[in-house]
Amino acid sequence: MTAGAPVPTAAVLVVGTELVYGLRPDTNGPDVARSVAAAGYTPSVIAALPDDRSVIAAHVRDATSAHDLVVVTGGLGPTHDDVTREAAADALGLPLRVEHDVASTLEGIAEGHREPGAASQVLRQACVLEGARVLTPSTGTAPGQVVPTARGHLVLLPGPPGEMRPMLAESLAALVRREQVPPRVIGCVDIRESDAQLRAERALEGHRGVSLTVLGRPSLVDVVLIAHDLDTAALAAAADEVASALAPHCYATDGASLAEVVVGGAAARGITLGLAESCTGGLVAAALTDVPGSSATFRGAIVAYADEIKRSALRVSHDVLAAHGAVSEACVREMATGAREMLGADVAMAITGIAGPGGGGPDKPVGLVWFAVADGSSVSAGSRAFDGDRSLVRERATVHALDLLRLTVAPRA
Ligand code: AMP
Ligand code: MG
Repeated sequence: MTAGAPVPTAAVLVVGTELVYGLRPDTNGPDVARSVAAAGYTPSVIAALPDDRSVIAAHVRDATSAHDLVVVTGGLGPTHDDVTREAAADALGLPLRVEHDVASTLEGIAEGHREPGAASQVLRQACVLEGARVLTPSTGTAPGQVVPTARGHLVLLPGPPGEMRPMLAESLAALVRREQVPPRVIGCVDIRESDAQLRAERALEGHRGVSLTVLGRPSLVDVVLIAHDLDTAALAAAADEVASALAPHCYATDGASLAEVVVGGAAARGITLGLAESCTGGLVAAALTDVPGSSATFRGAIVAYADEIKRSALRVSHDVLAAHGAVSEACVREMATGAREMLGADVAMAITGIAGPGGGGPDKPVGLVWFAVADGSSVSAGSRAFDGDRSLVRERATVHALDLLRLTVAPRA
């Protein structure tokens, strides 16, 4: 591409009445958008459409006249509601023809059906638009199609994600406009979205050709840098500056998860980890064990929900439970010490709190969670008051626990 030439654009249309009604989440749209962006197209729109031939045809007509690349997923199957083929043929004014290789495979499949009308339905999948390059399915039955348009290409792909993905990769391999610098995702924790955005904007003042997107998740903020006419090294330099502006809240500049950073940090320092979880019920352990290679550092977790288990499995004293209750600094300290000893870990983290909706009181409201870290020389403890319903409180507590572990295992300056 010559300098200054307009960046080609892409539209993604996901077809399925179930998607429009919210009965199934759309995963194809984001998958396709990421891939077309990596192939050098600016994704302009992701639209979900019902299984309605005239609606699909109208959108395909508009999208193919406005964009260089249009990718449609869904509606290529055998049933009555799979009408994307016919709609695309209507939109481009092209006839459908039978692709004989596909038809002969489908004939074998058609024989396995019992209903009289089923065989002809199955064989409809062999119909492709005149002039289309056919993408043979590696799984499933419906072929994909790449059809030339006045501005570029229309790509039709099957709806099931497992069938769609390999054909998407195959179709885009031949349509790459330019290698795109992948966006940089800078992970931040324990900082408000607007604070993160303003700090990142200040850090980017001297950098041209970078756009900034800020994505909030419970207790986490992803600061995303997208390169426009910028190479990988220049984007990396911008990411480093943004990361310094966001320290100590920034945990990764390469898209790594908080749990991955904890496992990597502990492994680098040869530290083993253990957990005592009450209100998080194993969520922190699940996050750590999600990371491949966590067995090198993670010893295990004791999910001690009932007071009796806190006593028997973690050696929390009867007196502490009687005097302060399970959601208290005294209890969380003993939980951390107990977990460290019982699990033989270098560092143990304990979590106990009130996730709600019941169980709160004036001095211990719903959302109050105590955390402690025992490292063999000392035990540090602190509490947080989280907003939100039960699942949000548990999610925020999990993130905070991982963040405390991250800071504990961080490289020593
Ligand atoms: P179809 O090819 O439209 O008949 O889709 C078949 C299956 O793939 C259905 O179970 C759909 O829910 C699923 N599917 C279709 N489109 C999508 C999408 N955009 N995201 C996730 N799943 C999808
Ligand atoms: Mg469908």
